[in-house]
Amino acid sequence: MQQLLVTGSDTGVGKTRVVAALARILGEDGSRVQIVKVVETGVVPGSGGDAERALRMSGTQALALTLESFSRPLAPAAAAAAEGRRVSFEGLVEKAWALPECDWRIFEGAGGIATPLDDRGRDWADFAEEAGVDRLVIVVPDRLGAINQARLAFGRAEGAGLAAGIWLNTVEIPDAATAESNRAGLQSAGVPVWAEQGHGADLPADPGAVHRRLSGVHPAGPAADSFAGRCAAILAEREKKHLRRRLRVAPPRESVLNLADNDYLDLARDPALAAAAAEAAVREGTSASASPLITGWTEGHERLVAALCSWHGFDFGLLWTSGYAANGAVLGTLAQRGDRVYADRLIHHSMIAGLLRGGARIQRYPHLDLDRLERWLERDARQAAPALVVTESVFSMDGDFPDLGRLAELKRKHRFFWVLDEAHALGWYGPGGAGLALASGASGEVDVLVGTLGKTLASGGAYSLFRDEAVRDALVNVAGEFVYSTALSPVNAACALAAIGRVRDLSADQGRWQEASRCFRGALRSDGWEVPDGDSPIVPVRLDDEDRALGVAEGLRAQGILVAAVRPPTVPAGTSRLRISLKRTLGPADFARVRSALRAWSPGRGVGR
Ligand code: PMP
Repeated sequence: MQQLLVTGSDTGVGKTRVVAALARILGEDGSRVQIVKVVETGVVPGSGGDAERALRMSGTQALALTLESFSRPLAPAAAAAAEGRRVSFEGLVEKAWALPECDWRIFEGAGGIATPLDDRGRDWADFAEEAGVDRLVIVVPDRLGAINQARLAFGRAEGAGLAAGIWLNTVEIPDAATAESNRAGLQSAGVPVWAEQGHGADLPADPGAVHRRLSGVHPAGPAADSFAGRCAAILAEREKKHLRRRLRVAPPRESVLNLADNDYLDLARDPALAAAAAEAAVREGTSASASPLITGWTEGHERLVAALCSWHGFDFGLLWTSGYAANGAVLGTLAQRGDRVYADRLIHHSMIAGLLRGGARIQRYPHLDLDRLERWLERDARQAAPALVVTESVFSMDGDFPDLGRLAELKRKHRFFWVLDEAHALGWYGPGGAGLALASGASGEVDVLVGTLGKTLASGGAYSLFRDEAVRDALVNVAGEFVYSTALSPVNAACALAAIGRVRDLSADQGRWQEASRCFRGALRSDGWEVPDGDSPIVPVRLDDEDRALGVAEGLRAQGILVAAVRPPTVPAGTSRLRISLKRTLGPADFARVRSALRAWSPGRGVGR
């Protein structure tokens, strides 16, 4: 299913007409279309609302629904207040999630995109985010002033990280020069125009192209008719937003202070691990040379799985060639269309990709907001579909973590299937360094635990552990990443096995590393940086602006300090940051060096901004 939200740069811009056109275009191939007016104000009793009007205009069999209506023709919050009621933003979102299945859902907003829905000022961009809307269609009247209106409205959508485009709607007799300059102005401002609907026309020009664009079939741009041209268009788009990434060779390890990688326990150069890897290479060979079901699964793999199971207290396990593959396989196999899937909004890309593969619809609760998760679980308690909850323990870009004890309680009450990614918690937390699930007493409720071998365990690859043998065996049978891919190399397996021993030995020092993280965060805050409290090895320094994040990271690099500049789409727009990852071996001189290097950009100095 795909969801669109039709909103506008203003009220009275022809949203209902656009909804009707969309219902026709999207329903033409027999797809089941729903027209959903989210909030309607100025409802005259007995006369159908916008949803019914759009349905009539479309002449289709779509289903028309209205979630909330008020009689006064005012902005939603005011119209509600006039009746002694209030708009519940959460209530609207929950009603939206409870709607029956269809192929296309077209939500229609009220007023313009930034019209507040409640007294906290949450607007249609917020609604789109919470309701899991895939694309925002912003209707703008094609007249003088359109460029300004479109830029403002599009900026709001872009700022919320939403995919959006403009629908130019000719509401009055057109003036050719204005129409032409609108198109040229929007193009040079980088605002995508998805559709143009002529005066008095029922449909936009080229409805097929509109359909393809809304289905996400084609990236925009005239160059998209050749593969290389399409790639060039993708790059140009990234370039325009200052978000193009480039591959470059890392400087030699000895020459830099690397606070960008995930080697939190500083084991990637550990002599004991190197010896274990070298010995395995000689004894077992440098490659598994075949997929696990052929001859790639060896004694070395079995030994590693047994060690991982005993470390975490699980019964069954599998190994993968990367964490990305592990999450894709586990979630892509488990979550199917029709399941109820609840995931923290900031879960790693590998998990989202896995979930989408199985066709599941993901309800993404606000980051760490377990109250919201609980409300959603209660709301859906009567639904027969099985429920899956997916989260990380330590979040890779924020370095924070949910209350896993509370998640375990929710699990006991609501009986969902729980998949937990512990990639960034290993070593730093938990008994013997086995992570946060064990540390918080929640481990017994976790159904699948995913861990990576390429971070703290200083090797490469990943693992997933299971309580239920059938879950493991299903993956062995159907997960493409397992069945059709060369098994993890014996060198990686032996190195990871040795690393578990080292991590266990070092874990007595966890308190010291955690304290160092707390102190470093406090020191950065006292220097004026925006850094959250915490004790994990991932220290995010919020800069918000993409260019600034990149500029500071480059400046540090020039001084021999590597930190990651994390920008969209890895994190939501407007939340760019430095990601400083700590290591157990850092000492006071290293922390002082980073602080002093950062000072050139410190907030308020105005240098390098
Ligand atoms: N899970 C999380 C939480 C991650 O941050 C990452 C990548 N850093 C992965 C999985 C993917 O692991 P890998 O790098 O082994 O593919």
